[in-house]
Amino acid sequence: MSPRYLAYRSSTSQSLHTESMESTRVRVGSGDNSVVFGGNGVVSIAGPCSVESLEQMITVGQALKTLGIPCIRGGVFKPRTSPYSFQGLGRKGLEILGEVRRELGLLVITEVMNVKELWEADPFLDCFQVGARNMQNIELLKALGRQKKPVLLKRGLSATIDEFLMAAEYILIQGNQQVILCERGVRGFDPATRNVLDLSAVPLLKEKTHLPIIVDPSHGTGKRSLVLPASRGAVVMGADGVMVEVHPQPERSISDAQQAIGLEELKQMTEELARVANAIGRTLTLAGISDSAPSQLAPNSNAHV
Ligand code: PEP
Ligand code: MN
Repeated sequence: MSPRYLAYRSSTSQSLHTESMESTRVRVGSGDNSVVFGGNGVVSIAGPCSVESLEQMITVGQALKTLGIPCIRGGVFKPRTSPYSFQGLGRKGLEILGEVRRELGLLVITEVMNVKELWEADPFLDCFQVGARNMQNIELLKALGRQKKPVLLKRGLSATIDEFLMAAEYILIQGNQQVILCERGVRGFDPATRNVLDLSAVPLLKEKTHLPIIVDPSHGTGKRSLVLPASRGAVVMGADGVMVEVHPQPERSISDAQQAIGLEELKQMTEELARVANAIGRTLTLAGISDSAPSQLAPNSNAHV
């Protein structure tokens, strides 16, 4: 007998039954200070590639507050290609994230690369990020499945759709059903863009899985000028949100400077995404306003710490 997959709408990976299961809504944060991924709202996450300083994060955080963007990102444990590149601020970066979270009331998402970092980072964040390079870090996925907070799972560097969903399966099977998928491009042959952003993955994943799916147009394209058009495209293709890299002085970013947008461009993006979302019958979720429908929220009652 074939296993009953939890990540798929139907019980096997072969069939595409779009009607067979309600879509899962994943709440990040709690109570009044929370947002829901997978409802009618389109949720933005923005922030620098790396946390560099408290000043940088407060500047970005204040811009997010002004625009109504509910979630801030920033890496403190950085999975860099070269061991000689900046590896992140680690503990000090977590404390900066904690301060931004406390002072500005923003929801914090940051990457962890192993189980030790998971526990170290836990008190400072609202949502864990699993990066592309760790999509198949099985021990990490299992540990994330055994804790209660939501997980943003990024597609691997060259992962197929089914490999992506099987990685999610590792989390779900442990009891945590609060998984948000993130399309961030896959390795292609042409260095003109950093990756090939697979926007067709969005409606395809919507057919195959009940989990919410967001798009990262920053790593997906690797080029500042492409981030806005790719994010528009993501919303039109049905994404439940976008995650973009933003920096007060983009060209001075310590990591991923070529793809970081500035605060003025973030404002433009937010205005445009609100219009694009409206045009397809959705709304851009602004901080403090959530479209929760509690009955459809992902359960995590059998998750344990
Ligand atoms: C990131 O989001 O900071 C990141 C490292 O992205 P990815 O894992 O998709 O390369
Ligand atoms: Mn980055």
